[in-house]
Amino acid sequence: MRSLAEIDRRLNEIDTHIRNAGLFGLALPAGEAKERATLIAERPAAARVERRHAAASVLMSGEIALWRARFIHQLAEHAVDLAARHGLTVAAEFLEPHARLARRAVHCEPIFCEEAYAVFLHEAAHVVLPEADGRQHRHEYVSSQPDGRQAGALTIVAPRAECAAWRWAFRSALVWTAAMQREAEISLESYRQGASEAERRAMDETLKVGRALVRPAPDTQEGREDRVAFISREDRIREILEEDRRRLGGHRGHIAS
Ligand SMILES: [Zn+2]
Repeated sequence: MRSLAEIDRRLNEIDTHIRNAGLFGLALPAGEAKERATLIAERPAAARVERRHAAASVLMSGEIALWRARFIHQLAEHAVDLAARHGLTVAAEFLEPHARLARRAVHCEPIFCEEAYAVFLHEAAHVVLPEADGRQHRHEYVSSQPDGRQAGALTIVAPRAECAAWRWAFRSALVWTAAMQREAEISLESYRQGASEAERRAMDETLKVGRALVRPAPDTQEGREDRVAFISREDRIREILEEDRRRLGGHRGHIAS
């Protein structure tokens, strides 16, 4: 498949030919109209591939602790999948992660730890989920850069949108861990001061939902124990079923004889 850049370069060429043909009353080469239609049909798929590559180049560029590599890598790959599926543009931002709704853009750190994955999910939710769009709720505009960078840039602050974005993050995560939950707690806490009584209750409810979903990360000691307990439980269930089957089988055999 041709790359997005190749497709756009060729489309530009053909469009220039069409414009010139119109200006000078020339006939357009017959093949070019057909080629143009093919290029336009190919463009969305090429754009998806491009977005996927771009998302991977940001999200998968983090330095991951070796013993965590497998799990964190899975989280990063999942984030790339989500970005591609929802048509998100991802840009690296190390200080103030945020979403740009109009451009379907998520600005966040590479995914090198569970917390960064949680932040990516949260920012993606602001773009993907209508309820996580601050303009849908009571909101305020605040200067997003207290240190004076990008003077004049305003951010929408809406506690209910924050709650919705975290709930989407809980639901969308491959696994919701204690570290991710801590990230949600710290983040929501920063909105508490400007929130109304009802909004504060919504924040407490949201965090409760998250806490109930917390599972140990699969590559930690706790996660291994959890997995072993699960397997033993499965084994015990299999044993019970096997005993039942033997008993019933024996019984049936008795009737049949
Ligand atoms: Zn947010």
